[in-house]
Amino acid sequence: MTTYRAPLRDIQFLLRDVFHAQELFAGMPDTAEVTDDLITAILQEAGKIAEGLLAPINQSGDREGCHYDDGVVTTAAGFKAAFKAYAEGGWVGLTGDTHYGGQGMPKMLSAVIEEMAFAANSSFALYAILNTGATLTLSQHGSEQLKARYLPKMYEGRWAGTMCLTEPHAGTDLGIIKTKAIPNGDDTYCISGTKIFITAGEHDLTENIVHLVLAKLPDAPAGPRGISLFLVPKFLIDDAGEITSELNNVRCGSIEHKMGIRASATCVMNFDSAKGFLVGELNQGLSHMFTMMNYERLSMGLQGNGLADSSYQIAVDYAKERIQGRAPRGAQQEDQDADPILVHPDVRRMLLTMRANILAGRALSLYAASQLDKTRFHPDPAARKQAEQLVALLIPVQKAYCSDRGFEACVLGQQVLGGHGYIAEWGLEQNVRDARIAQIYEGANGIQALDLMGRKTVRSNGELLQVLLLEMDEFVESQQDVAAMQVYLQVFEESKRRLIEVTEKVISRASDNPDEVGAASYAYMELMGLTLYCFMWQRILAASIAAKDSASADMDYCDGLIKTGEFFIKRLLPRAKSLAEEIANGADSLMAMTEEQF
Ligand SMILES: Cc1cc2nc3c(=O)[nH]c(=O)nc-3n(C[C@H](O)[C@H](O)[C@H](O)COP(=O)(O)OP(=O)(O)OC[C@H]3O[C@@H](n4cnc5c(N)ncnc54)[C@H](O)[C@@H]3O)c2cc1C
Repeated sequence: MTTYRAPLRDIQFLLRDVFHAQELFAGMPDTAEVTDDLITAILQEAGKIAEGLLAPINQSGDREGCHYDDGVVTTAAGFKAAFKAYAEGGWVGLTGDTHYGGQGMPKMLSAVIEEMAFAANSSFALYAILNTGATLTLSQHGSEQLKARYLPKMYEGRWAGTMCLTEPHAGTDLGIIKTKAIPNGDDTYCISGTKIFITAGEHDLTENIVHLVLAKLPDAPAGPRGISLFLVPKFLIDDAGEITSELNNVRCGSIEHKMGIRASATCVMNFDSAKGFLVGELNQGLSHMFTMMNYERLSMGLQGNGLADSSYQIAVDYAKERIQGRAPRGAQQEDQDADPILVHPDVRRMLLTMRANILAGRALSLYAASQLDKTRFHPDPAARKQAEQLVALLIPVQKAYCSDRGFEACVLGQQVLGGHGYIAEWGLEQNVRDARIAQIYEGANGIQALDLMGRKTVRSNGELLQVLLLEMDEFVESQQDVAAMQVYLQVFEESKRRLIEVTEKVISRASDNPDEVGAASYAYMELMGLTLYCFMWQRILAASIAAKDSASADMDYCDGLIKTGEFFIKRLLPRAKSLAEEIANGADSLMAMTEEQF
């Protein structure tokens, strides 16, 4: 059976040869010390953690799940010790604010570490990632006092964070939440309401749990503009920032029994006049949460990609070993009863689809992470502004397209194993179950598509796309003298042209028909995803061609990348044409049915 192998070579190639991460870091004073050597050392260590600490408790965690007993949640065997080791290794506060004990590392680095953690053990990864998201929001919007009291322990992994948005009647539409915040007359608030589906809402991994809760003051404006953000600790703390024995009035009512990520506690949380502290400004809660959401959404794309990679590793090992049938070109292993299934074109279709999308998905995630790093660290305000625009455009696509392709890859991996893929022992059925949620939480993928099409494209009149197109043009310009790239660049130019034409058409039709944006949105997100994957493949191809010329080149590795890129262009990219046609066909066929006809 395959055990997870951290994909360090692919990651290093992307960071060093494709994205020249060290050059980017060197140009920003706060990341200048992140050298190639440091990156290599951190990645190697992270790889060991994923392989040796997280992967060994993945299947057992899935089998055991979490236990609930009268408000107390106990995690699966091995999780508590693993979290302690993970925290002591400094992984929880890796990207944290250095003023409060974080390590200030760039997101480009932590993104690939997250991907490995998700691949090795998605349930475990969620405990750490929720904490990272909560600390990020707190460090950007919390008062100095809140930051000083909470951040150091959260970075240490002694306390963990959550985000409490969803309510029984309010998921996508947070404007209608009912959780109330009543001012206590001092600087605290009395928080009451029920939140559901709260990841890591209660568990035994840390001494304290710090909930970030969306709630409304009684006189707040209706809808999303009346939402505020509060910090509600499980145990109240004293002025020195130490836990008191005083439990706050927040209690886990139950945990969910669910399809996947079974070792991650998904909790109903009841706030019953709990003491809360305002984070940021009143009525700005949703926009404060969005700080964290860009990072959390990136994580969900990484979850899809990580599980895809874990599935690919299992499937590829199996396809080399499993013998069934003969190769269409004639027997390849005459001394055996049959050939390995890797000889069959259809099995290669599945494996190459997985590999091509995993590499492009990882590259897109790194590209989006590099923009997040620029928004945080770049000294030039113009560069920061440009990066913010790219983040706004890229994140919904990365979240939805990578998690969709990730789930698809897990199913393809399962298919490569035939009946064995359906059996728990091989791990693929767990990967399929664990990957599914990434398409749903942090805003369902349909909502990401709507955000991309509506807010980020039609409402900005295509302005954000122009910023991306400039980046693409700059890349094309840089490759004009590379003869081997010209055939690929031609395809890329066609893809870009198609995206521009489709965008212009949707923008012009949107004002005539209110259903056009929603009708176009999913196919448009997929078209944008496919075009971005094509952009990523252009960059990987260019780096592979350049690397082949260097003295230390690993020719076989680079050659494999080039072949995978050509597969992407010839077999996956053509789908863009049918997506464009789907969008051009408009809303009519979607809206024609009456309610009774469904
Ligand atoms: C395992 C798990 C963990 C979770 N963890 C957390 C957590 O830690 N914190 C937290 O706050 N929440 C959490 N959630 C909640 C999660 O984020 C929501 O389930 C998700 O955002 C969707 O909300 P919903 O389930 O209410 O679906 P709904 O909002 O009811 O949507 C149902 C469907 O309708 C579509 N839809 C809704 N509105 C529109 C629209 N305007 N236009 C087009 N389509 C629309 C959606 O795309 C979706 O397909 C978790 C959920 C699960 C299952």
